Amino acid sequence: MDRPYIPIHELNQTKALAVYISMCCRYFIVGLLFLLGELACQHVSAMPLEKLVITATTANSWIHPDVKNWAETTEALVADVVKCTEAGAAIAHVHLPTGKEVETVKMIRERCDVIVQAGMSSYPIDQRESMFKAKPDMLSIILNHHDEHFTKLSVNQLHPLEELERYCKRCSQFHIKPEWEVWHLGSYWNLQYLIDKGLIKPPHVLTLFFNWPGGTWSPPTPDEYLHRVRYMPPDCIHTVSVMGDEQMKIVSLAIGVGGNVRVGTEDNPFITPGAPARNNSEIVSQTARLSREMGREVATPSEARKLIGL
Ligand SMILES: [Zn+2]
Repeated sequence: MDRPYIPIHELNQTKALAVYISMCCRYFIVGLLFLLGELACQHVSAMPLEKLVITATTANSWIHPDVKNWAETTEALVADVVKCTEAGAAIAHVHLPTGKEVETVKMIRERCDVIVQAGMSSYPIDQRESMFKAKPDMLSIILNHHDEHFTKLSVNQLHPLEELERYCKRCSQFHIKPEWEVWHLGSYWNLQYLIDKGLIKPPHVLTLFFNWPGGTWSPPTPDEYLHRVRYMPPDCIHTVSVMGDEQMKIVSLAIGVGGNVRVGTEDNPFITPGAPARNNSEIVSQTARLSREMGREVATPSEARKLIGL
């Protein structure tokens, strides 16, 4: 299986020729730097700026468990999702309450048209049967193992290729779109494996994670984000999920270069550093406003369905 990469023949031919000539002469280093810069920008500059798809992640904060601005009952969760949709969220990433999975999805659908994405990808597939039966629009699936070290909880869970293959088949059976969680470039290797086996159809919807503590941590920095974008396989649409105070910097960058964003209490329960948000809809409103001020409109749930192939 080929490793996903940007083939050199995709470079602008004139620039490639200039690089080649410079690399053949004493300006070798200048040419090399130019080439690396061009490679870094290739994927980003080619992306059309579709409307921004905002995912609201409404669960408890894993790293700030004492900030209690998330919904603790099913009724409050549904009300929170409805308000987030009104504020600009097209997708609701929801931790469906155990034993109430079917009922919760039904309650959300009765009140709004948001795309329901069932989270808790750390569970092994055999423990997610009730989530399949709830028939959410999307299901979060991690492309590598869980190795997370939160404030009051550590999670270590293997997800071998065999499990990923089973996920593809079950999602297809229940007409559920997988949301693939990407933590490092090895996640892409597994995604490419599933693509090569013909188990999934594009567009592939990815969430790139940054600054989640633990053994799959990555820095919330522009170069890490652009690095992840550069090596992304073709036919992918991506969202960023960032924990911590650096969140809005990467969110702004993603808005600017054509990515999508996930915000809410699970990732970062603050509206500004240290100041807890009143609720999730306040966080979604802030992100939607930022995007519009940057000149990028925000997708409705029905527009997002078309963009992500639902
Ligand atoms: Zn989650």
